[in-house]
Amino acid sequence: MTETIKQAEEDRGAQARERDCPTCGQRVPVDRRFVVWCDACEWNVDPGGEQETDPDGGRVERLRRAVAQRHGERLFADLALQPASASPPGTGVSGVVAVALAVAVHGLTVVLAALGLWLLIGRWGEGFQPAIGALLLGLAVLLRPRFGSFTKLRQDAPVLERADAPHLFALLDEVAAAVGTKGVEAVVLGPEANAGVRTYGIRRHRVLRLGLSLWSILDRQERIALLGHEFGHYAHGDTRHGLLVGSALRSLSTWRYVLAPNGGDSLMDLFANLLTALPRWTVHGVTLLLDQATLRASQRAEYLADASAARAAGTDGAAGLMDRLLVMDSAEAALQRETVAARTRIGGPSRGEDREERADGLWERVAAQVASVPQREYERLRRVSELRGHSVDDTHPPTHLRRRHVAQSDHHTPGIVLDASREAAVDGELRQPAQAMARQIVRDGLGA
Ligand SMILES: [Zn+2]
Ligand SMILES: [Zn+2]
Repeated sequence: MTETIKQAEEDRGAQARERDCPTCGQRVPVDRRFVVWCDACEWNVDPGGEQETDPDGGRVERLRRAVAQRHGERLFADLALQPASASPPGTGVSGVVAVALAVAVHGLTVVLAALGLWLLIGRWGEGFQPAIGALLLGLAVLLRPRFGSFTKLRQDAPVLERADAPHLFALLDEVAAAVGTKGVEAVVLGPEANAGVRTYGIRRHRVLRLGLSLWSILDRQERIALLGHEFGHYAHGDTRHGLLVGSALRSLSTWRYVLAPNGGDSLMDLFANLLTALPRWTVHGVTLLLDQATLRASQRAEYLADASAARAAGTDGAAGLMDRLLVMDSAEAALQRETVAARTRIGGPSRGEDREERADGLWERVAAQVASVPQREYERLRRVSELRGHSVDDTHPPTHLRRRHVAQSDHHTPGIVLDASREAAVDGELRQPAQAMARQIVRDGLGA
């Protein structure tokens, strides 16, 4: 009953009303679920664009973005000229520079730890020195390279292993083989509209993280494309996500956090900010250098991973995936809405059992909402991608360039076709853990 009322409400909201564009006067449709914008003059095409850069370190972020943009455009032009992969990413001079910088970053952590230990133990009882030593040791602990622990991962999150989902793992193995690598040892499900591969621990256990908001909005070949892309990262290697450089980038972002200037304007604050200015700018400088040395390689790795996606799923599947990536935010917003709706149904009893019922079908409802996103919204997001261009935090090149690259490269027929019965078998294996996650989200909220 409530479903029908909600649906009717949504239909009414989706009914296109119109208004005048305040800039050029053209009539633009109003759909309260989406940003109202003008396709003639691009009024309000990207209302969130200004908040993207954070006010502190805004200058550095702008600089990093500009560097990314320049690299990105040149790289796209180069790839258009010679799409075949020549040398693996991360080799050559920039690869050596990246490794040297990463070693220097971790070297400093070692020095801090040693100095801290010496002050703490060697200078015990000598005024403030042991306290400073303890502080330095704590800092070194914060800055230490983290490789993640596979054992801890298995304790913390519901992890699927081969025996839990034989059809899923068979599919993963097949996609991995199609792009020239081996499969993963575990799959971790998450609520987000994203996916990624990581390796855990020194022994480099391969783990695929699959966000259900993304997985549930993809059609069959798009799913193959997503897996092809992720396994493509393993196949081609990616320095930025590699052990040494990846952990150095994490250390640097810890440094930036520790050295961030105080907001206050008391004399003490100003003095402290002055004192940290030199190290702060050094950290910014090293970050910029490491970006320079790795961005090209990591963006190149994304294009190569997209090529893997096209090889596994076919060009159409890969292009379809790129379109879905445009609405990832819509998928997360839909999840948010559905979660809130299930948690706080107006007038309904909030007994635990009832809530559990409302959690069932959560992912299907998210998929249905995303399926109703109109072409006009896709077009707006495509233009936003072009306007924002390359950002740094997200090492993926802008989606419109990725889509263009896939479309411009050699046309691939699907290497793997996921048929309906096989999809049903995989879905059947995911149903129970997906439902468990939905119930957990509805019980605890998305923030938990
Ligand atoms: Zn206009
Ligand atoms: Zn990627």
